[in-house]
Amino acid sequence: MGWMIASVLGLVFLCYFIEKKKNRAIEKKRIKDENLKIHQNGMGQPDEIAEHTDIIIVGAGVVGSALAYTLAKDGRRVHVIERDLNEPDRIVGELLQPGGYLKLIELGLEDCVEDIDAQRVFGYALFKHGKSTKLSYPLGNFHADVSGRSFHHGRFIQRMRSKAATQSNVRLEQGTVTSLLEKKGTVKGVQYRTSNGQALRAYAPLTIVDIPSCFVALVLENCNLPYPNHGHVVLAEPSPILMYPISSTEIRCLVDIPGQKLPSITNGEMNEYLKATVARQIPPELYSAFMAAVEKGNIRTMANRSMPASPYPTPGAVLLGDAFNMRHPLTGGGMTVAFSDVVLLRKLLRPIHNLNDSTSLCKYLESFYTLRKASNRFSIFPFILRQPVASTINTLANALYKVFSASPDPSRKEMRQACFDYLSLGGEFSNGPIALLSGLNPRPLSLVLHFFAVAIFGVGRLLLPFPSPKRLWTGVKLIWGASSIIFPIIKGEGIRQMFFPATIPSSYRAAPDMHI
Ligand SMILES: Cc1cc2nc3c(=O)[nH]c(=O)nc-3n(C[C@H](O)[C@H](O)[C@H](O)COP(=O)(O)OP(=O)(O)OC[C@H]3O[C@@H](n4cnc5c(N)ncnc54)[C@H](O)[C@@H]3O)c2cc1C
Repeated sequence: MGWMIASVLGLVFLCYFIEKKKNRAIEKKRIKDENLKIHQNGMGQPDEIAEHTDIIIVGAGVVGSALAYTLAKDGRRVHVIERDLNEPDRIVGELLQPGGYLKLIELGLEDCVEDIDAQRVFGYALFKHGKSTKLSYPLGNFHADVSGRSFHHGRFIQRMRSKAATQSNVRLEQGTVTSLLEKKGTVKGVQYRTSNGQALRAYAPLTIVDIPSCFVALVLENCNLPYPNHGHVVLAEPSPILMYPISSTEIRCLVDIPGQKLPSITNGEMNEYLKATVARQIPPELYSAFMAAVEKGNIRTMANRSMPASPYPTPGAVLLGDAFNMRHPLTGGGMTVAFSDVVLLRKLLRPIHNLNDSTSLCKYLESFYTLRKASNRFSIFPFILRQPVASTINTLANALYKVFSASPDPSRKEMRQACFDYLSLGGEFSNGPIALLSGLNPRPLSLVLHFFAVAIFGVGRLLLPFPSPKRLWTGVKLIWGASSIIFPIIKGEGIRQMFFPATIPSSYRAAPDMHI
């Protein structure tokens, strides 16, 4: 009996093992077939290029196009996957600060602002209650070609995409990335859908993700700015209005509307708001063109978001551009930060020949998150742009937006007026802040000093010639208000990264010549 039971059990186990082996063989074949499918393109041909890609870049916007060009120049095989390769028609990224232009030169992309009717920008003009002041960029130490540039965003992006595509080792493809392919916590590539709907996968040791980010936008035509070739900021109520030329005949006007809920464009509320609240605050030279643009009705909106950079080191992937870090667009600093990050990442990747060791590469690239925020402690030449600019531009943009927005609080009103008057003093009082805004001076300490100098200037005006308890109290609130604007922003950026980068161990993982 025992012998019979043992034989039956033996037979059952034998059948089980045979079946398991068969299933394993079927599974192996399925995976092999799947892999074959994965590496085939739409025509059923094996996709050779995907197998020999060093870096996949998701998105050919500001960051993606610049990075593709520069990494290809360094000999990398780059596969760029962009959702829409047609000329973008967007209201973002239209004014490039001089600091960003210098980065463009460093990347060899300065010709991308040529032949697109880009306008040169030499500074800003600030308007408040009918008074104005001009703030020129401190460009004296630079080549005559260096200045800001403003243009149609789409024309600029197409120039950068074409330039990247001139490199034989760049493959620029239209497709929408739907997911990252991960294996054991390491990003191995991406899954994407081509323009004809086919689902494909692409693999590379390193994937760089550059996917984007309310201003009400209009185009003013047939008019001249009061200060030609300058950006114009109106300290309007409730919040600022921005204007700059985007071609020789068009002026972009961006009206900030605070809060999440916008007046409706479709039922005419927006037109009403622009005519009743905004138009009377527009400089008189531009009033008719503004009203004509509102009547014409080509009104567009775009959300303004700020997002401090939170490093999320993932083996096999790097997050860049607006996908990683955003600041209020008031100061037009986004592209300058983007190009500065591209320059830094290129320098970090240059000495690395093998991108396949994703864990070591990820650890090494942690230095990127510190170095992009750090300015050179020992720099005695602040106008030599060797330092990354991200934290200074981010902090200035977010703080200035708060200071420039109207508030019923008397101390905030004093701060706004003090800021306008401080900038109108000229000399270092205007040169210092505009150098920070333009990306020409990346030092965060200069920013903090100027910010508190404005606050102290405001308190001084309150207390002179005779301080009263009420004025003294407003002064205390002004300093408190200034601190509660700037310190949370600095905290979000990272105090150590901004002011004590050398205390962060990861910064030493970069090549020695990049140490802070
Ligand atoms: C209203 C507004 C005005 C601004 N004005 C200025 C200014 O004057 N000056 C300035 O310097 N900065 C400005 N900025 C900021 C600036 O535009 C951004 O910082 C900059 O464009 C960021 O570049 P990016 O490459 O990260 O993103 P983008 O330039 O937006 O590029 C992202 C690309 O990824 C593609 N993409 C998205 N999803 C996918 C997907 N799933 N698969 C494949 N591709 C995909 C998109 O089509 C796009 O081409 C402004 C921002 C706003 C909101």
